[in-house]
Amino acid sequence: MENCIFCKIVRGEIPSPRVLEGDDFIAIRDINPAAPVHVLVIPRKHVESVAHFEDGDAALAGTLLIAARDVARQEGVAESGYRLVVNTGREGGQTVGHLHVHVIGGRQMTGHGTA
Ligand code: AMP
Ligand code: ZN
Repeated sequence: MENCIFCKIVRGEIPSPRVLEGDDFIAIRDINPAAPVHVLVIPRKHVESVAHFEDGDAALAGTLLIAARDVARQEGVAESGYRLVVNTGREGGQTVGHLHVHVIGGRQMTGHGTA
């Protein structure tokens, strides 16, 4: 996945400080934050979207949610609450074709998206 922007960030070719990282994921701040806390949890492995998960990715899928929990704790929004968003495919509004979980918080959320 030579030209994938998140693969480049995973490989360190584009510098982006890690909020948190683990064996199978990194977490970075969104470049265009929609809220005071806006972190992206990104699998190190290139999976295009939830639609591209294979059955064998169940552990990875769980790891991403646990990582989102840990990001929320670290960012101080675990108690106040936060939103997890996983845009999937064209009509889902996905703009980067490498799976990522948005962790958004620090203000009252409305609607169902990142707005
Ligand atoms: P989505 O629309 O769900 O695919 O979300 C893609 C997100 O990636 C957007 O919120 C962008 O602001 C964010 N983004 C794009 N490029 C970068 C980057 N280089 N570093 C951090 N976040 C990025
Ligand atoms: Zn990728």
